[in-house]
Amino acid sequence: PRLANQIAAGEVVERPASVIKELIENSLDAGADKIDVEVDAGGIKRMRVRDNGCGISEEDLPLALARHATSKINTLDDLEGVVTLGFRGEALASISSVSRLSLTSNSSGSGAGWCASSSGREMEVELTPAAHPLGTTIEVKDLFFNTPARRKFLRTEKTEFGHLEEVIKRQALGCFDIGFQLTHNGRVIHALRKATSLAERERRVASICSPAFMENAVYIDTEAVGMRLHGWVALPTFSRSQADLQYFFVNGRVIRDRLVAHAIKQAYRDVLYGGRHSAFVLYLEVDPKVVDVNVHPTKHEVRFRDGRTVHNFLFSSLHRALADVGP
Ligand code: ADP
Ligand code: MG
Repeated sequence: PRLANQIAAGEVVERPASVIKELIENSLDAGADKIDVEVDAGGIKRMRVRDNGCGISEEDLPLALARHATSKINTLDDLEGVVTLGFRGEALASISSVSRLSLTSNSSGSGAGWCASSSGREMEVELTPAAHPLGTTIEVKDLFFNTPARRKFLRTEKTEFGHLEEVIKRQALGCFDIGFQLTHNGRVIHALRKATSLAERERRVASICSPAFMENAVYIDTEAVGMRLHGWVALPTFSRSQADLQYFFVNGRVIRDRLVAHAIKQAYRDVLYGGRHSAFVLYLEVDPKVVDVNVHPTKHEVRFRDGRTVHNFLFSSLHRALADVGP
């Protein structure tokens, strides 16, 4: 079974960033509203995710590290979600099979908690009492220490950290009601408090995407044909030095989609922006029934039932917003 875990780990755990993504998703699933990520050496040496979610009880701790241990399948509806999301109930088992993992948690809110640790194939899960506030801390050390072939594919510390930071940025842009902190080699890189009001959200976007983006962006919020598009689009006064400032969320999930990219590009070109690259942080909300966001669990693709309506809505909303501002 350990070998099976390591093979599964190949799919789910590609690099430190993919570990962080899974751990943050677990924290969100646990209802946390504060997530602290601390990493060393781009995450290769050490990653630690601490949350204030519901925690894991003593009985469930060893189970959480077992394969297919998901506590999240309760109804048939869930099962469908599980299938489409993929890798359900395998993330922790997979990660622990290729690292030295420890999990400390408290589900009662009293000071006492429990710590379980395991390392590589020997997966000796050891339970010891440990002090921990309500919530969970997961520490992952020495990623791929026992899978040299995989370790070889890791890039420099800086590149790995870049990927990892991107995961945090997307999560933080996708969940304004969650506080995030990211620390690298002891230095705080992002400290993002819960953002509720528009001003607070704009402050968060500015701190993630750069103050220049926010100073040169227009806020849009339009609704039609059962869809809502809101967020920020850069004006031509925003000179982009950042490589790729394009974030598009569909019902809270970040996606990349040609139809979406095309609609935005066309609105840009049509109004005033010539051949300029667009920069945006946009949120599309649609009836979940008209969009399939799980075409592939890791590729961030979507399929709209009625692509033309979506394209028209995006194009006309952006066109109007940009034309209103004028050249
Ligand atoms: P999945 O998330 O698909 O259920 P995982 O392997 O990611 O599978 O996690 C296994 C189980 O461990 C979860 O179902 C959950 O019960 C528990 N768990 C993991 N992380 C946390 C966390 N941060 N807080 C509370 N429970 C957690
Ligand atoms: Mg999970």
